Amino acid sequence: MTGKPFEYTDYATLDTINAEVCVIGSGCGGATVAYKLAEAGIDVVVLEKGGYYPASTFDNRELNQAGKVDAERNLTSSTDGSTFLTYGELVGGTSVHYWADSYRTPDDRLALWSDKYGMTGHGKSELAPIFADIERRHHIHEVEPMYYNKMNKLFRTAVEQLGWQGAPIHHARHGCAGSGHCMQGCALNAKQSQLVTSIPSAMALGARVYADLRADRFTFDGKHATQLTASIIDRRRNRPDGRKVTIKAKHFVVAAGGFNTPAFMLAQPGLKEALPGLGKHFGMNPAVFAHGMYKEEIILWRRVPAAYGVEEFRRARYDASGKYVEGGYLLVPDQIQPALMGYTIPGFDAGAAEWMAKLPNVGGAIGWLDDHPNELGEIRLDSKGQREVHYPYGPTTQAMLRDLMKKATIVNFKAGATKVMLSDLRRTTLTSIDQIGLIDSIEIKPGNLFIAAPHPFGGCRMGTDARTSVTDSTHRVHGFDNLFVSDPSVFPTGPSVDPSVTIMAFSYVAAGHIAAALGKQLTPLTAA
Ligand SMILES: Cc1cc2nc3c(=O)[nH]c(=O)nc-3n(C[C@H](O)[C@H](O)[C@H](O)COP(=O)(O)OP(=O)(O)OC[C@H]3O[C@@H](n4cnc5c(N)ncnc54)[C@H](O)[C@@H]3O)c2cc1C
Ligand code: SF4
Repeated sequence: MTGKPFEYTDYATLDTINAEVCVIGSGCGGATVAYKLAEAGIDVVVLEKGGYYPASTFDNRELNQAGKVDAERNLTSSTDGSTFLTYGELVGGTSVHYWADSYRTPDDRLALWSDKYGMTGHGKSELAPIFADIERRHHIHEVEPMYYNKMNKLFRTAVEQLGWQGAPIHHARHGCAGSGHCMQGCALNAKQSQLVTSIPSAMALGARVYADLRADRFTFDGKHATQLTASIIDRRRNRPDGRKVTIKAKHFVVAAGGFNTPAFMLAQPGLKEALPGLGKHFGMNPAVFAHGMYKEEIILWRRVPAAYGVEEFRRARYDASGKYVEGGYLLVPDQIQPALMGYTIPGFDAGAAEWMAKLPNVGGAIGWLDDHPNELGEIRLDSKGQREVHYPYGPTTQAMLRDLMKKATIVNFKAGATKVMLSDLRRTTLTSIDQIGLIDSIEIKPGNLFIAAPHPFGGCRMGTDARTSVTDSTHRVHGFDNLFVSDPSVFPTGPSVDPSVTIMAFSYVAAGHIAAALGKQLTPLTAA
């Protein structure tokens, strides 16, 4: 390997790739599993359908970068149009786009997954050294005060005054200049995405990474994947150019991301029939915004996005009868760039123009739901084999979203906002906290409220029963001897915090089982 991934222009004569392990996807899941396997001396290839864009190609321009960093140019939604799906499609995956907030999976969530869903080998004690290793390798540490932008400072003070439990966020950055372009891809390689961590580490250990190569179909011999067919993507058009490549490997790992792994698996011959739970139990941490208008300049798009977060409401609270009371989300200061801001301010009239004209004074808060386990969605394929993303927005989910919008509104007013606007079609606007009841009249239905989904999970749930789950606790697809899943598709529920560290930690576990299947062992971890 030459130090850079292979690309479309390198594929003039490529028709077959041989390896011990083939990994599909190069995000937190795929890159991590590839790195750990390469470190164990295993011959690994990574297929990535997106392009290879090193930091030297980043120009910090929001719309240019959307074409490189965001899948489908940041313009895709769930099937009924209710939710904006946001994820990356390039070498490094969504981590090139992410905010770098880094949370260990909470103990209560690991316990739930083990006690209720039968997950083994992913408990607190097994993951503790893995978390420590991930934190060391990604320079994860508490955000330093110098990186707080104005909104973060106002937010922290407001949270303290409200008496809510909050804390500085841990982030994965090293040598950050505070430019605020994290979502466009960090031009300084300071954000510790997979593009600058596990991908180059894996390549240095001999892994081969193929950009512009889309995995399509497995050939199965009974319950054994014998080979994979992939399409070469013409990067100039972002379309297959008609050429196919065959990948022969002993083991295959699907790590195509939460929106794509279930769809990819559903497209494989016989899998849905064998595994009826495939595509089900899907969640995506629906996220809503509350924009605040401030007297002073906020300049939301400078320094790191979220430096301080509210943990008070992470776990939903229910009364004795089981009725939802409040919470079930993380709440943080918002950071969106001007074009994305335009999306979240509905309408094209003078009222919308006024918010855009005063953009430097706009601040805000955002939160993402810990999806209610009884109100999860499903990924399906339509008659043409195209992905459909269905999410029901059930009654508890709606109540949680309203509570989240209220708390995001309260924190804005406490921080000094003179008015707060929600992202529904009417642009419901409050000029004082006394009007909080207006939020109850916001209809949560397709097309009415701008909801984003940055953290997909589920669809290939881990569990013990092949009728309701897709993989076992070794990440192996039930009934198959050489097919694994290593991304958030295996989560039984949402992790209740931002997922990247959980995805990476689970990928260490997956890599351990794949290495064992090849008669090898992962390099022992020394950090505790
Ligand atoms: C705006 C934003 C901010 C975020 N901020 C945070 C944060 O601060 N902290 C945090 O923990 N999480 C954050 N997240 C979420 C986090 O980035 C993702 O959950 C995580 O990076 C997903 O990793 P993954 O490996 O599961 O999938 P991905 O990173 O999506 O990787 C999957 C890869 O597979 C490729 N692929 C798909 N299908 C195929 C195929 N058929 N063949 C070949 N390749 C294929 C895709 O192109 C993609 O590159 C954020 C997400 C967004 C959108
Ligand atoms: S704020 Fe820091 S991590 Fe984000 S893009 Fe700028 S330099 Fe990179």
